[in-house]
Amino acid sequence: MRYKNQKVAVLGAGLSGTAAALLLKAEGAQVTVLDNAEEKNLLKSTIDNLRAQGIHVICGPAADEDSTTYQLAVLSPGIDPAAPLARNFSSRNIEMIGELELGWRSCELPIIAVTGTNGKTTTTELLAQMLDACGQRTIACGNIGKPLSEVAREKNSFDALAVEVSSFQLEMIQTFRPSISLWLNFAPDHLDRYRSVTDYRAAKLRIFENQTKDDVAIVNASETLPKIRPRQITFSAYTDRADFRLAEGAIVYQNQIVLRLAETKLRGSHNIENLMATLAAGLARGLSFQQMVPPLCAYEPRPHRCEFVREVGGVGYVNDSKATNLDSVEKALRAQTKPIVLIAGGKDKGFTFDPLRPLVKEKVRSTILIGEMAGSIARAWSGAVKSEIANSLADAVERAHAIARPGDVVLFSPGTSSFDMFKSYADRGDQFRALVQALPK
Ligand code: ADP
Repeated sequence: MRYKNQKVAVLGAGLSGTAAALLLKAEGAQVTVLDNAEEKNLLKSTIDNLRAQGIHVICGPAADEDSTTYQLAVLSPGIDPAAPLARNFSSRNIEMIGELELGWRSCELPIIAVTGTNGKTTTTELLAQMLDACGQRTIACGNIGKPLSEVAREKNSFDALAVEVSSFQLEMIQTFRPSISLWLNFAPDHLDRYRSVTDYRAAKLRIFENQTKDDVAIVNASETLPKIRPRQITFSAYTDRADFRLAEGAIVYQNQIVLRLAETKLRGSHNIENLMATLAAGLARGLSFQQMVPPLCAYEPRPHRCEFVREVGGVGYVNDSKATNLDSVEKALRAQTKPIVLIAGGKDKGFTFDPLRPLVKEKVRSTILIGEMAGSIARAWSGAVKSEIANSLADAVERAHAIARPGDVVLFSPGTSSFDMFKSYADRGDQFRALVQALPK
């Protein structure tokens, strides 16, 4: 029992915090969960379950003011280390780690960690499904599905774990050491949480921090990374100076054609890179291309990621609600071969849409803007493309339907997060899909 009789605080009563608390309890700790939301706003079943397990729960303003001494505090990734709840602990010099670090310390399985600004979920799933189909029992977890602490507590027998890791999780590690790390790409994001792009990048770069020369790093060749210790395998859909590269629609490794994109259910150069990174990880785990290709071809893309919804009157409708930063909008625009009517906009996360202006001018016929950022996007693209501001998503879909001509594609790729108007990106995408399904033929 690693934490026998230790007093440990868990900050945050969401999915990660609950998983951390239950793991600590199973490892013998005296656990208190603190969350400054009012108890009535937290999930009742979660709180009841924690209390039933003998875990102390403090909610509301009392959480920010708790003055108990603890030997360790575990921070949920959703809580900013600069928030009052976390500062109440760091200012008292109580050792603080993240939930990912906690899970890692209790986990004896090899970890393949996937990070990047975009493509993490797609690649983590591709990887887990591929390894599983090749006879290596694997689960996709971390930032998707079960938190690592939950998988560690369950102690099921897996050969490896495919762990999606975000910058928020990586910024609170100490000894976390994946045997294989994947660095998919990097673009500005999360400036509502980080002071600068440099801070965001520094948090992500910690994925390599504890790797040694016996480990492997799978790295996008268009990235310039600082010197790292693990053996590198590179990939890129945009340059030939990479171990995995693109030639005439096929992924090539050491002059051998491995896989053609057309044989898979994925589309766009960004997905070619996700596939390359997955193949590289399989190679590092000793698999042959012959084994890996069939499960990759069978993979069904997740909803809300350039998801084709329906064709109405010769116009295709694509739901890319998961595009919550400019890089993912760029990839969605580049993946289209037809004239585009773009629906974009959402919560103001502290950046402008200016960088997309040339590409929008080249590929988009008309834009319809929604949410908090509608006005600022219209200004950023003024003169480059015709823009309209809609007062709801339903209004935007109606306007797009009226404007689009046969042969066009209506692309919903918001470019920022959804919380100004929706519960989540999934809620936003579900609403878009329902509105499109309801359009008259
Ligand atoms: P994440 O988990 O990193 O948010 P997802 O796989 O959920 O990544 O995809 C998020 C968004 O980014 C979607 O709009 C998707 O189409 C786009 N995307 C997926 N892979 C990549 C990639 N390698 N580069 C850029 N954009 C990508």
